[in-house]
Amino acid sequence: MGSVAVWPETEVRQPIEGANGYLTVNLSALSRNYAKLSTLVAPAQAAAVVKFDAYGLGAKRVCSVLYGIGCRHFFVAQFDEAAKLRPGLAADAKVFVLNGLQPGNEEACSHSDIVPVLNSLEQWRRWSATAKRRKCNLEAVLQFDTGMSRLGVPPEERSSLAAELVSQAGVEILFIMSHLASADELDSGQNTDQLVAMKRISKEFPHLDICFANSGGIFLGKDYHGQLARAGIALYGGSPSSSNPNPMEPVVGLDVAVVQTRTVPAGARVGYSGTHIVARETRLATIAAGYADGLPRSLSGRGAVYYEGRRLPIVGRVSMDSVTVDVTALPKGTLSLGSLVEVLGPHQALEDLARDAGTISYEILTGLGNRYHKQYR
Ligand SMILES: *Cc1c(COP(=O)(O)O)cnc(C)c1O
Repeated sequence: MGSVAVWPETEVRQPIEGANGYLTVNLSALSRNYAKLSTLVAPAQAAAVVKFDAYGLGAKRVCSVLYGIGCRHFFVAQFDEAAKLRPGLAADAKVFVLNGLQPGNEEACSHSDIVPVLNSLEQWRRWSATAKRRKCNLEAVLQFDTGMSRLGVPPEERSSLAAELVSQAGVEILFIMSHLASADELDSGQNTDQLVAMKRISKEFPHLDICFANSGGIFLGKDYHGQLARAGIALYGGSPSSSNPNPMEPVVGLDVAVVQTRTVPAGARVGYSGTHIVARETRLATIAAGYADGLPRSLSGRGAVYYEGRRLPIVGRVSMDSVTVDVTALPKGTLSLGSLVEVLGPHQALEDLARDAGTISYEILTGLGNRYHKQYR
């Protein structure tokens, strides 16, 4: 418990017969991350953001584990995702749809105990019309734009909305919500600007609970916690802040199998377009994952994989289904068909791979694809 190094070599290195690679999801680390975030936001509650199949890790498993340790609020992006999850969750769990509803989904949503996040006056009107038509009470979250200009009721629609809210029975607002644009930057002025805007909105829509912070927002302090925080990336081990050391425990490991090894002479070209030319005799290994498996093509000639702590640089272009790495640093014969190399694990965090690829941990995680053998621990 509490240790950050949770990937003992012996557990990760055991090849599974026939697997080209495997993705390990550490469910106990996930639980500890949830517990940590819950403690940080208490007495507010921590919701789990499980959109895109819990950032690719498997929403059903993630939800059942988190429900087991007290999580009762789950956010997805789309109605279809909610419709898949809802039947497997207990009645006291709430499932929210961040994007709200598309025209045509309202009726199905109203019958399935799923709560839309209403992002505009139009979404609000469609939902309240559904409540009226069905003569029933429907729940909703109201999202406001506090400066990200992405989703949420814009400032100019607020007074109409406030007026309609007063006169319209039938929709129960569970939370007012907004989303932070720069929460991963601890001292960005945009955070305080958005907080001020949220406080103003909270006065215009009084007596409603507030749902504001994402993972990064949780680390901005109490002012940002409201009554419900929405944690995504931090649950899955990603860093909530871009400047501070990552306080979360890694949840995801990725090991990929070697397909072929070879020794090439000085001057040999490697990969598509022959972009890499080896300077001296070089031992190479080609591993069974490429850009189709979420190793971005931007890793071509950049970044590395690891074997027992040794860095094995990626050489040449990343292909669709494979990547070639320079294994000269390892004693001859160390790697052979089926050996597993570490892509994510004790020597390479999500953020490391993301940095080398010129992207963010979220994009790495959600891009990993479904060709790996997924294993829960
Ligand atoms: C994705 C998302 C979250 C989760 O953000 P993390 O940074 O992963 O914690 C929270 N709120 C909204 C509106 C989102 O779109």
